[in-house]
Amino acid sequence: MTVPAGAFRQERDPDGVLLLTLDVPGEKVNTLNPEVMTELGEALSELTPRVDVRGVVLRSGKPDSFIAGADLKEVRRIKSAAEGETLSRDAQAILDRLEGLGSPVVAAIHGACLGGGLETALACRYRIATDDPKTTLGLPEVMLGLIPGAGGTQRLPRLVRLATALDLILTGRTVKAARALKLGLVDEVVAEPVLLLAARKAALALSDGTLEPRRRGLRPMDRLLRPLILRKARASALEKSRGHYPAPLRAIDAVGAGVTTTSEPGPAVEARLFGELAVSDVSRALVSVFFASQEAKKDAGVPEDALAREVRKLAVIGAGLMGAGIAAASADVGTQVRLKDTSTEALGRGLRQAREVFEERRRRGSITERDVQKRMDRLSPTLEYTGLRRADLVIEAVFEDLDLKRAVLADVEAATGEECVYASNTSSLPIQEIAKGCRRPTRVLGMHFFSPVHRMPLLEVVVTSETDAWATATAVALGRRLGKHVIVVRDAAGFYTTRTLGPYLNEAARLVEEGAAIEGVDAALETFGFPVGPLALIDEVGLDVAAKVSGVLHRHFGARMAPPEGLARVLESGRLGRKNRRGFYAYDGKKKKVDEDVYGLVGVDTTRRPFDPREIQDRLVFAFLNEAVLALQEGVLRSPRDGDVGAIFGLGFPPFLGGPFRYLDHLGARFACQVLERLATRHGERFRPAGLLVEMAKSETRFHPALEAARP
Ligand code: NAD
Repeated sequence: MTVPAGAFRQERDPDGVLLLTLDVPGEKVNTLNPEVMTELGEALSELTPRVDVRGVVLRSGKPDSFIAGADLKEVRRIKSAAEGETLSRDAQAILDRLEGLGSPVVAAIHGACLGGGLETALACRYRIATDDPKTTLGLPEVMLGLIPGAGGTQRLPRLVRLATALDLILTGRTVKAARALKLGLVDEVVAEPVLLLAARKAALALSDGTLEPRRRGLRPMDRLLRPLILRKARASALEKSRGHYPAPLRAIDAVGAGVTTTSEPGPAVEARLFGELAVSDVSRALVSVFFASQEAKKDAGVPEDALAREVRKLAVIGAGLMGAGIAAASADVGTQVRLKDTSTEALGRGLRQAREVFEERRRRGSITERDVQKRMDRLSPTLEYTGLRRADLVIEAVFEDLDLKRAVLADVEAATGEECVYASNTSSLPIQEIAKGCRRPTRVLGMHFFSPVHRMPLLEVVVTSETDAWATATAVALGRRLGKHVIVVRDAAGFYTTRTLGPYLNEAARLVEEGAAIEGVDAALETFGFPVGPLALIDEVGLDVAAKVSGVLHRHFGARMAPPEGLARVLESGRLGRKNRRGFYAYDGKKKKVDEDVYGLVGVDTTRRPFDPREIQDRLVFAFLNEAVLALQEGVLRSPRDGDVGAIFGLGFPPFLGGPFRYLDHLGARFACQVLERLATRHGERFRPAGLLVEMAKSETRFHPALEAARP
């Protein structure tokens, strides 16, 4: 075990308040592991007989975080359900002792108070949080396929309303201090400089009885309605998890056991289920995704800190869907943005779109009206290439057209300084082709954002053999500032993400040509775990855009990426997808239904051929997986880890499978090759397994080291 002793410091003030400071040595934030919990237990044992201590304040010694949660490295080490259960039982026992301590304990919360951190705070008699935006409280365990295992499912429903507790536990969402106060999760909110003072005061007041702690226990209304509330939560969790994510349902079991009379007491149920989930494939995969994204943060393939230049002034060319999204996301983090388009209408639309992003945040209460205006003031629209001279970075987001993109690059080079980095947000064109003949190819790269920019968490940075490392580092650093997971890939048509999506979407359209039902294809992939079906996705992206992209991929990769012929006829019929409310589906507001005319356009009659959903899934998913391996084999991807992060955060690949490479490890290369060979025999050469996969099948190797991989 890695954590050195001495995570807690104790000081007693003259009034008899003991300050118990958690400061795990050598770590940036406090996380909980068995050593820290044991130390807490020892501190409590020492405290119990002390008559000179009237109250205790539990606080963090870290600058902007209270306790970030359990140490996930420990969770990953759990080998059996029984071991996980014991870990949970031990943590519960220590927090029970914290709760039962004679002297009142006040949690002084500043910064992240998550998972085990919040469970610890819940066991204290009183909670004070700072109003700082960094202070967030929540139980995010379900996002890792787990449930709170240190009494959280038992204590929370006794402190806040049952429905609120279920909502927090089942969604894993975090709340800021003001909201936490409203919900009853904390008792007081103060400014950070007076946190300690307020906590000391509360400890003394609790000790002499002038302050009453919040009453705990199920509220009468909750007691009455608990079967109904639990049933509703279960129905909603079942629908959302689509059978892929067991943790929310297990969390309801644990909460349910705590608030009703069952043969097995609530805490025992919580510990047992925590143990079972900790060793489940789903949790292992989700935890691995967490670690993969953490590692990707530290290693983007460029010495980022040393080389990145600060982007104080950004210019965005093209104020369309993507350009406006990028401009809004950048203004949101304080960057000045010059936004250029060719008409006032386009600029107006772009600014309205940006305002809508900020307004949405205002409606949710995370920013004020003044903040909206401040952000809008950072956007400066223009029809000319003026005001670009001092731009540090220019992002081009004009139509997907090579000649246009080249012309824009030439114009921008003439209008900007020598050191300005130029990024294209192309979704498929090789950056080298865009940069051909330009003046400063060493500053040119791709920054591939995803739509909607403010929500999609991935940025794919595309570098050519000529791109300077500092230019790459600058793009990566900006992506991070925008809160994105960033992967750096080598330049090639479609990079990594678009390229893997290409054969997958082609296969979906091909199935329709073969007589499959549109909704049947989408449902099969949704059942597999994608957030939207592939044909609905084509409608979202736009059939025109999809056709352009698939043309680029076809040109570069040949027959493997040939789009099915019918797709062009659907586009020729004037169907553009959701944007003109006609695509594979007909759209009426938020409602959509299959457009039956599409079948005629692709050349099939109105009777649908039955397809086994499994066959549909195999064809699409294995086309995707094989292409991901090809991208790795050709050096477009730097690592399987980047491939997993990119597919999950950019393309909605099911997180519970841990990403395409982790899923391939789970299936085994040999099995994957067998499926691909079978598909190749039935449907054509495009399914021939990638050479790397064949090699791996022979040598029985995996993409990730064994610890990382899912257990079959
Ligand atoms: P869009 O049609 O919404 O916007 C393009 C904008 O560029 C329009 O406002 C147009 O007026 C403007 N424009 C055209 N020529 C210009 C010029 N010379 N100077 C300034 N502005 C000019 O398109 P979009 O969906 O925002 O896509 C833009 C780029 O982003 C494309 O390369 C596309 O492939 C890529 N992309 C799109 C998505 C997506 O989901 N839509 C995702 C990733 C990348």
